[in-house]
Amino acid sequence: MLESRRRRSNTRSRSGVRGLKARCRFCGREASYHLDHARMSLCSECFIKYYERKVYKTIQKHGMLRKARRVAVAVSGGKDSVALVKVLHELVREKFQEVELVAIHVDLGIPGYSEECRRVVEKVCGDLGLELHVHDLKKAEGYGIPDFMNTPFRRRICGACGTVKRYHTNRMAYQLEADRLATGHNLDDTVEILFELYLKGAVEEIVRMRPVSWSSHPKLVTRIKPLIELTDRENFFYVLAQDLPMLEARCPLVGESRMLRRKKLIEEIEGRIPGFRHTFYKTHLKRFLPRLEKTVEEPRLAECEVCGMPSLGRVCSYCKLTSKLRRAEISRT
Ligand code: SF4
Ligand code: ZN
Repeated sequence: MLESRRRRSNTRSRSGVRGLKARCRFCGREASYHLDHARMSLCSECFIKYYERKVYKTIQKHGMLRKARRVAVAVSGGKDSVALVKVLHELVREKFQEVELVAIHVDLGIPGYSEECRRVVEKVCGDLGLELHVHDLKKAEGYGIPDFMNTPFRRRICGACGTVKRYHTNRMAYQLEADRLATGHNLDDTVEILFELYLKGAVEEIVRMRPVSWSSHPKLVTRIKPLIELTDRENFFYVLAQDLPMLEARCPLVGESRMLRRKKLIEEIEGRIPGFRHTFYKTHLKRFLPRLEKTVEEPRLAECEVCGMPSLGRVCSYCKLTSKLRRAEISRT
């Protein structure tokens, strides 16, 4: 298994290295990975150092772990979250010894997929010796994400799933008394969302696209995105270079969504203008965000009348969502 992963890591399509003669920019040994946006090839060892340094710099630049005591890491089993939990584990060991890491996982109850996600998460966290907390939707809440397919949310299933994941990861982190919640959002995800938001002119939502969302309510845990400056490919390479388990299954509920079409379009632009994603994100962060933050007021959070968690209105979006699910179930019986 490990052997085959090592072999795969040296293939041209996965590593991006063209031919076997490419040399590592830092040490001159044979390169294993090529980064188009930076126009450089690196060997496995130098790539790991480069990646961990980059994540460390992002954390420091935005004060993500300043005075942090306990960090809950959301691990879904996908490559980004696997890379995140590993790199945070390394950085905590070397640079942030005062921080305690705990892993959290939401089992979405998607047959043929969630079992595989959980297997990867348990293996990664077990190998790292990390405390892992799992919230099993089917067992704890009586529903799984596929149940939304019988409701008007079937066309926006990923949106519903996102609300469920955001709610439960925050609640788990809060119950574990964590003061940070780390998620694996990467540069590709961020630029894809920003692209859509700028097209729509959704100013309030654009302002929320930050590397750190500081808590504005005692039950809302500060969210940090340590991989926000790392690309999809860089996270994938890190998982390969560190020989970590990789989720091979694809969620059966995801179709040819608009999100995937936008990602493909951005990929094409990146092919013609290398570094496009980095420029877009930096412009957003440095030029637009500081100006927009002055014009948009921070929303005031109350407590949801149903569940008591932070909410913009009387009832939080999660409780609204699950009440629609229950109504759809009743009307079917
Ligand atoms: Fe949830 Fe959509 Fe991801 Fe499937 S693809 S796990 S439905 S967000
Ligand atoms: Zn609620």
